[in-house]
Amino acid sequence: ENVNVAALSAGTAALHLAFVILGIQPGDEIICQSFTFSASANPITYVGAKPVFVDSEPETWNMCPIALEEAIQDKTAKGKKPKAIVVVHLYGMPAKMDEISAVAKRYEIPVIEDAAEALGSTFKGQKCGTFGEMSILSFNGNKIITTSGGGALVCKTKEQKEKAVFLSTQARDNAPHYQHSEIGFNYRMSNIAAGIGRGQMEVLEDRIAARRVNNDFYKELFATIEGISVFTEPSDDYFSNHWLSAIIVDEEKAGFTREDLREKFLEQNIESRPLWKPMHLQPVFEGCDYYGGNFAESLFEKGLCLPSGSNLSEEERAEIKSVILSLKN
Ligand SMILES: *Cc1c(COP(=O)(O)O)cnc(C)c1O
Repeated sequence: ENVNVAALSAGTAALHLAFVILGIQPGDEIICQSFTFSASANPITYVGAKPVFVDSEPETWNMCPIALEEAIQDKTAKGKKPKAIVVVHLYGMPAKMDEISAVAKRYEIPVIEDAAEALGSTFKGQKCGTFGEMSILSFNGNKIITTSGGGALVCKTKEQKEKAVFLSTQARDNAPHYQHSEIGFNYRMSNIAAGIGRGQMEVLEDRIAARRVNNDFYKELFATIEGISVFTEPSDDYFSNHWLSAIIVDEEKAGFTREDLREKFLEQNIESRPLWKPMHLQPVFEGCDYYGGNFAESLFEKGLCLPSGSNLSEEERAEIKSVILSLKN
């Protein structure tokens, strides 16, 4: 795959630059997956554009291609054709890129992939972060590999990458003095972070292997627990780095709620968290348009992220197991 990568200070900065490079203008509208971390949507507002949120589908928990097309058709009919589509590979799970790319192509709208959580994940053998017109990666402290803070913009063309580097280093024109004809940013990756990143690249495969072991552990643990489903790949087309492992608790079948389970974990000092709260339900994005049903919302109500570090010990696993078993009694 022929990719051009600009190393930057954060994934958020990378997404901001992607919108600048695409020429997004104030008042434009950008479609964004609602079920995500706020950093997927915030940069839309940095360029004065408005997010239009779209629901997820049950297999990958990522953008629903049907709701996406509905949003595009409705917005276009109203004379407000969206200028870009931000699709996210949440928790490392690749989105339905075949369907999403087909819709995007049909309406000629560029796709920006938010692959911040999906470094090393693949769809049909192709790496997440290489499908879109541009894609972002994050090396923040909580991601699968880290430079303490950092990110990257993955571009289709060399021109886009050069533009990203130019903008990220204060947009300095080619002149002996300091000459500027565009607004620039201080978004470059520091040399120290880059040095750490080079070392981290060597441990990426090990980290992914460890996270996948966690996912297998949870699958086995919950196999006999009714009402709990572990989030995993819908088919062999998908390879997730399983950055975080997550479950859905079906209260009726399980006999307890997500909150019951979370509190039980907390009693034992085991940290677990509800899944991302969808953006269309966030106070800060109140009034933004939303297309789809209530799938993202139901994930927020019933889902739980489980301990997923690359270094989950045998002891921790045993504790997690005993909490689960105690709930069944
Ligand atoms: C972490 C993250 C980002 C932002 O990356 P930073 O490097 O922290 O700015 C964007 N999108 C998603 C889905 C993320 O998880």
